[in-house]
Amino acid sequence: ELYNKVLELKGNIRVFCRCRPLNVEEIAAGASMAIDFESSNEGELTVKSNGAFRRNFKFDAVFGPQADQADVFEDTAPFATSVLDGYNVCIFAYGQTGTGKTYTMEGTKTARGVNYRTLEELFRIIKERQQLFHYEISVSVLEVYNEQIRDLLVPGNQPGVPAKRLEIRQVSEGMHHVPGLVEAHVSNTHEVWEVLQTGSNARAVGSTNANEHSSRSHCIHCVMVKGENSLTGECTRSKLWLVDLAGSERIAKTEVQGERLKEAQNINRSLSALGDVISALATKSPHVPFRNSKLTHLLQDSLGGDSKALMFVQISPNENDLSETICSLNFASRVK
Ligand code: ADP
Ligand code: MG
Repeated sequence: ELYNKVLELKGNIRVFCRCRPLNVEEIAAGASMAIDFESSNEGELTVKSNGAFRRNFKFDAVFGPQADQADVFEDTAPFATSVLDGYNVCIFAYGQTGTGKTYTMEGTKTARGVNYRTLEELFRIIKERQQLFHYEISVSVLEVYNEQIRDLLVPGNQPGVPAKRLEIRQVSEGMHHVPGLVEAHVSNTHEVWEVLQTGSNARAVGSTNANEHSSRSHCIHCVMVKGENSLTGECTRSKLWLVDLAGSERIAKTEVQGERLKEAQNINRSLSALGDVISALATKSPHVPFRNSKLTHLLQDSLGGDSKALMFVQISPNENDLSETICSLNFASRVK
């Protein structure tokens, strides 16, 4: 039996694994589960196939099909406190299309995800601290598609349409900025929900197949926090990035051509750039290759140093998805 210790709790990177339930079609088709959550050790899961193959993986947390949005958020909430304490935080959802990345980050109106819950938690803590601190929160919503950045809070800015392209500028040492990006000021959870909906709707408009489009682009929320200590006047600035990554499934070059091939190559490039960056940070490598993709370049100031990162590795329980599941779990092992 091979044992993979995916993460030794070192550094500021945490990896949570979440496995969605089998859906009704899969159950109807008699799909079998390739994931076993019976392990007596918390944070472990076993990938198995027909009794012929077994492999254990260990994470900081494992959420099986029964775990709901509140269970997941319970372990995510401490990152909200960190942001208000002045740390930069990045939260990613990684995995094959259909494994629940958007469900985890965005969720649904009745089962809200990490994006909304984190902002709700920010406002809860802000209220708790109001005697001592004053905070200002603003939110940007953007998309990276084919290595192009698009502002999803600009009305009429449709995915797949080459609207105004935004660029990343370095304004000073360790400070990157996207000039022209809309920053929506929010002062309560109601306003947060409105902004999240606007971004989400903009993502869906205009493309012939909204799901397909969203599986090939990274959807990014950037929450900017300004804090001021009411007694000392001391100020902090921090950023929280919430990233619903493009689908990690491998696409055979023989199957796609032209635009689709370019898309697939850009996705591969940015996901492996992200893996390279996180693993360079985890191993304290002197050279961190931030410039290899728009995604890592954008997040450069918030990865490394004192910042904290959380990666949700999303997987399918279906035995038919086994090879993609193994790929995702291996990616997670690299990210340690
Ligand atoms: P992705 O964004 O990775 O492509 P989605 O978030 O769109 O995947 O999820 C695919 C489908 O599975 C959606 O219908 C979603 O509601 C459902 N789903 C995903 N995760 C869960 C879960 N943990 N519990 C219930 N339904 C889920
Ligand atoms: Mg999605």
